Amino acid sequence: MVDQKLIVDADLFLFDLDGTIYLGDKVIPGAIETLKKLTALGKKVCFLTNNSSKDKTEYVKKITDMGYPVDLFQIVTSTMAAIQYLHTRKPGKSVYPIGTPTFVKELEKAHIKIEEDADIVLLAFDTTLTYDKLWKANILLEKGKEFIATHPDLVCPHEHGDMPDVGAMIALFETSSGRSPSVICGKPHSPMAEIISSLFYVEKPRIAMIGDRLYTDILFGINNGMQSILVLSGETTKEMLDASGIKPTYVFDSIVNLFETVTN
Ligand SMILES: [Mg+2]
Repeated sequence: MVDQKLIVDADLFLFDLDGTIYLGDKVIPGAIETLKKLTALGKKVCFLTNNSSKDKTEYVKKITDMGYPVDLFQIVTSTMAAIQYLHTRKPGKSVYPIGTPTFVKELEKAHIKIEEDADIVLLAFDTTLTYDKLWKANILLEKGKEFIATHPDLVCPHEHGDMPDVGAMIALFETSSGRSPSVICGKPHSPMAEIISSLFYVEKPRIAMIGDRLYTDILFGINNGMQSILVLSGETTKEMLDASGIKPTYVFDSIVNLFETVTN
């Protein structure tokens, strides 16, 4: 008899999205079936993205349309990590956001005070960025206001070529103001782990983080005491892994390899 055996012993599976579940608009072959098999085994499945430019409902629609019905609570973004961090560590402080209208709306919904002469510059992935926003933020940073970023990714992959992401903007402000963020909220940093802990009651060693990027996904697992699984279906090649000091618990070609076929 031929059977499918889950290789990774965990209760909560955190999946990165781009490069892990899909590449742009193309689902990775077998990914949806793998997610369904995990759900059938009673495993908790959650999707964890550093992208702070989009609303969670966009991801719900995209993954559901690909064939895996997903609920809002299963999507966790770096925007959520930033909001929780602001509420718990910086209560009452105002922010000057560099972000999309969607991002700003999420802050407003969470009752984060937004103003021009704010206490904190909050840098998100802003695909509506203007020179005026860069300038205003730089003035605040020169005044010594706090600097928080949603995530550290240098680029966001895109079919027409990489999009400069928050990590690239951090480098810009380091050049123009001499300031670096005091806190980064998304993977691999602890505010993202804190939001996972507050949403899912699963102990860290029973959590598996699966992703295609070493310096965010895999480091997130390692930094936060979770199991980490690198998939070679996205950004990272075998050569990049060999050259890196970041070593995941498991390395698979794709998430399909979470299961192996066994013959009884
Ligand atoms: Mg990815």
